[in-house]
Amino acid sequence: MAVRARPSPFAASLPARADAKAMDAADPLALARNLFSLPPGAIYLDGNSLGALPRATAARLQDVVRDEWGGDLIASWNKHGWIDLARRVGDKIAKLIGAEANTVSVGDSTSIALFKVLADALARNPGRKTILSERGNFPTDLYMAEGLAALLGQGHRLELVERVENIGDDVAVVMLTHVDYRTGAMHDMASITAKAQAAGALAIWDLAHSAGALPVDLAGAKADYAVGCGYKYLNGGPGAPAFLYVAPRHHETFRQPLQGWLGHAAPFAFEQAYRPAAGIAGATTGTPPILSLAALEVGVDTLLRFPMAELRAKSQALTEIFRTLVQSRASELGLEGVSPADPEARGSQISFRHEHAYAIVQALIAQGVTGDFRAPDILRFGFAPLYLRYVDAWDAAAYLVDTIESRAFDDEKFRQRQTVT
Ligand SMILES: *Cc1c(COP(=O)(O)O)cnc(C)c1O
Repeated sequence: MAVRARPSPFAASLPARADAKAMDAADPLALARNLFSLPPGAIYLDGNSLGALPRATAARLQDVVRDEWGGDLIASWNKHGWIDLARRVGDKIAKLIGAEANTVSVGDSTSIALFKVLADALARNPGRKTILSERGNFPTDLYMAEGLAALLGQGHRLELVERVENIGDDVAVVMLTHVDYRTGAMHDMASITAKAQAAGALAIWDLAHSAGALPVDLAGAKADYAVGCGYKYLNGGPGAPAFLYVAPRHHETFRQPLQGWLGHAAPFAFEQAYRPAAGIAGATTGTPPILSLAALEVGVDTLLRFPMAELRAKSQALTEIFRTLVQSRASELGLEGVSPADPEARGSQISFRHEHAYAIVQALIAQGVTGDFRAPDILRFGFAPLYLRYVDAWDAAAYLVDTIESRAFDDEKFRQRQTVT
C-alpha cells in the first residue's frame, strides 16, 4: 500500500517529492524512525491518537511478564522496583513537560487525573463556583467537570466560552486543553495562566496533544495543575496510564477525594483512617498497572533520547509541508483549513473540514494513509516527528488530493460508521 505512481498534483513552485526526500536525507532525527515498529508502506498520521510501537517495548514487556511476574511473583514489587515504577516514570515525564522533580503522578486515565486535580483546585477556592473552559474543549474534560460539580453539590457550574478572555470574580479555575484536539490551535500557556491567577483563579492544563510533541514549560508558565495522556505522543500503548502534575507550592495542602490506600502516608500500616502521603504521592489511588507502566516507560525513554527543540522544529516543518501542499488545492476540492497557518500557533497536527470528511478518511486508510475523523466534519492528521518522514507528509498530501479529485471516497463501504472513528 501507499505506493503512488501518478504525476504530482501540486504546482511546480511548491516543494516536489524530491525536495521532501532531500529533507529526509538531511534530517538529524531520521534514525529515530528505526526505533519504532511500523507496518511496511504505512503512512501513519494518527500518533496523536495512538502512538506507534517502540521496538524495545515487546522485549521489555516480555521480561516483565515472564521473568518478573512469572519468575519472582509478588517479590517483584520490591525486587524489581514495581512499587516505585509510577514515581520513576512520573519523573521522566516531568522532564518532557518542564515540570520540577517529584511533581508528576502516573496512573489512571486522563479523565480521572483531571477529576483529582479539579477537586483540589475547587477546594482551594470555596467562595468561587465557576469552572471556566471552552466550548471546543475535549468532551471528557467537560463531562468530568460537570460530574464533579454535581457530586460536590455546592452550586459549582461549568461556564463555556468560545475563547477565554474575561475571567470574572466567581471563577475558581480555568481549565483548558493546551493544543486543541480538533484544530491543533495552541494556547499561550504562560499568559493565560498569569491572567487566571491575576483574577484569583487557578489554571489546569490538559497536555494530551502537547506532551511528547512540543516543548512544554509547566514550571516556567507557573501552571497550577496539568494532566495528559500516555498513549498519544508518549507512545505508551493503548490505554497507557495518564499523568497528573501539581505545582510544588500546592503540595503541602494537596487533597484529592479518590483517597486510596496507595496514596496513604503509610500504606502497609493499614491504618483505619486516611492520612495522605506527602507531596505528589498523595495523588495516587490504587495499585499501579505495572505492565502498562513498563510499556509507557519505554515510550518515554525513547523520547528522552532526543532534544525536544529538534522534535518541535521537525514537527513544524512536517506540518508546514503538508498544510502548504493541501492548502494550495483546498478551495477547488471543498477543503477548508482549520489549523493555524503560523507553525508557532499550532501543535503537531493539521486539520481540514470537508462535507465528506468521514468517507475521505476511510478511503485514505484503505490506501495505507491513516488519519482520523472528528465529528462533525473534520479530517485530522497528526505528525509525530519521531517516526515520520518528510516524504510521508508529501505523499499524504498527494493521496488526500487524489482521493478527493478522483472521488475514490464516494463508495458505500467508506460511509459505514465504525465504533471508533
Ligand atoms: C485524548 C484526550 C483525553 C483522553 O482521556 P482518557 O481519559 O485518557 O481517555 C482527554 N483529554 C483530551 C484533551 C484528549 O485529547
